[in-house]
Amino acid sequence: VIDTAEPRVVLAARGLGRDFLGFTAVNNVDLDVRHAQIHALIGPNGAGKTTVFNLLTKFLPPTRGTITLMGTDITGMRPDVVARMGLVRSFQISAVFPHLTVLENIRVALQRPAHLHTQFWRSLSSLDSLNPRAEALIADLGLTPWRDIRAADLSYGRKRVLEIATTLALDPKVLLLDEPMAGMGHEDVHTVAEIIREVARTRAVLMVEHNLAVVEDICHHVTVLQRGEILAQGDYASVASDPRVRTAYMGS
Ligand code: ADP
Repeated sequence: VIDTAEPRVVLAARGLGRDFLGFTAVNNVDLDVRHAQIHALIGPNGAGKTTVFNLLTKFLPPTRGTITLMGTDITGMRPDVVARMGLVRSFQISAVFPHLTVLENIRVALQRPAHLHTQFWRSLSSLDSLNPRAEALIADLGLTPWRDIRAADLSYGRKRVLEIATTLALDPKVLLLDEPMAGMGHEDVHTVAEIIREVARTRAVLMVEHNLAVVEDICHHVTVLQRGEILAQGDYASVASDPRVRTAYMGS
């Protein structure tokens, strides 16, 4: 028997909207992000992708609409609370400490509370109990050969993988990645794409991505935004063959 049921929805938005001083940046966005799937959010510059990320992670309050995370309404919740519940956004490379090794960075991340603004960490010396988890994360993300290398000495792509690893230390149920391949060469794009595929085996991933070859290669579902509204949704083939999407991309 082939199971054709779609995986369960872990993050959902309904009628999501945000105005800035009367300008509608995002309007009427419905999204279903599913467990163990990679969901791409694409669209021309200014389409509202960053605003949607900010709304979902509660960095911005929505003007309209609701957001649910694993069945709980999180619309009015604070970003740190939502992060502790398992909706985690990866930040830029600056989240990684350049003078610490890969292992040390992951140890720091593992004992950092899922509280995005905290500055309080226990001393590294008290972290021996975290080593097995750190080692497992390093192995899972293929970072074993770089375990004792300082972050500053990693390639750009490997730094992004380390950044993703530090995010995974929070054990997210839904991981939001903002242009994870930005500025990368072909080799690094391939490495990071494979890592994201691996990461999404056990959690949902929502990513903003401009590289459509990557979207086609690894994403199960694509949402196209244009001027703050959903232009098309579906698998890559259906979205890419949609005449409205073709016009939006050629016109931008
Ligand atoms: P994208 O990430 O797809 O490039 P954004 O979400 O950054 O798009 O922006 C969508 C629209 O909302 C743009 O027109 C942008 O100028 C506007 N916008 C975003 N943030 C603000 C803000 N804080 N104040 C006013 N306008 C904003």
